[in-house]
Amino acid sequence: MCACNRSWRAAPSWAASRCGWRNKAAKNGAELRTDSPVLEDGLDALLDAEKPDHVVLATGSSVCVDGFQGWTAEPFDGWESGNCIGWDEVAQATSRATSVSFPGDVVVIDDMCDVVVPFTAVAMTGAGANSVTLLTRWPMVGMETILDVYLDWILPKLYESGVNMLCDRFVRRIEGDKLHIYNVHHEKDESVPNADWIVMATGRRSETGLLEPLKVRGVSTEAIGDALAPRSTYEAVYEGLRQARKL
Ligand SMILES: Cc1cc2nc3c(=O)[nH]c(=O)nc-3n(C[C@H](O)[C@H](O)[C@H](O)COP(=O)(O)OP(=O)(O)OC[C@H]3O[C@@H](n4cnc5c(N)ncnc54)[C@H](O)[C@@H]3O)c2cc1C
Repeated sequence: MCACNRSWRAAPSWAASRCGWRNKAAKNGAELRTDSPVLEDGLDALLDAEKPDHVVLATGSSVCVDGFQGWTAEPFDGWESGNCIGWDEVAQATSRATSVSFPGDVVVIDDMCDVVVPFTAVAMTGAGANSVTLLTRWPMVGMETILDVYLDWILPKLYESGVNMLCDRFVRRIEGDKLHIYNVHHEKDESVPNADWIVMATGRRSETGLLEPLKVRGVSTEAIGDALAPRSTYEAVYEGLRQARKL
């Protein structure tokens, strides 16, 4: 996943700069421990061992499978009745060594308008789908990618893989494998496409599971970055810096 505004093609230099940050952090006395999930169960032992004066919770956010998005600020009606998954599940499944199949008609619901959604749709065409529709309330797919020049790279892949692009449409409700949609500019224009899989590329929700357990234990704690509210790398870095300055 691209977590910064650098080009995907610049990934090796980004990896090198990540290495630079690690060195800088180490030089300034920070100890970095990776592959160490913190679970509520193990919290007491961790607090006993580390005895922190202050905890900064930077646990990020996760993809909303209920279709929560910025237009209605609500999940989609009836999402529990559908076979709804997040785009991240598709990305993880298709990168596994053993192939994962998503047979049937797939609708990828886009409220992000970025590079992730078109490639999720393309991945679904290669994962056994009967049909793949990319549905967006925006007037075009990948609108956010135009100025990054990604769109010229995305569109050929969408056309080549046969993804149907359905713009100006939003979800009214989900009823099992039926998706009730309408034209946002002409609400009487309704249709009910079949959707054996509904892939959500809509909103993200803060991961705050450790916040309350820390507060209950009386530990001074503040959430930053996406754990406070899903936004961009800049806010996460800025809020991290502010926490460091406060210490
Ligand atoms: C598809 C996509 C594209 C994006 N593109 C951009 C972009 O181009 N530019 C931009 O500025 N922003 C972009 N963002 C947003 C950006 O990635 C986030 O705002 C940023 O990563 C938030 O940083 P963070 O440190 O708060 O959380 P994260 O980067 O999500 O880091 C949280 C970390 O905490 C770990 N964690 C969670 N729970 C636990 C636990 N219990 N124990 C231990 N570790 C835990 C997670 O594994 C993760 O490594 C994008 C986001 C997405 C999803």
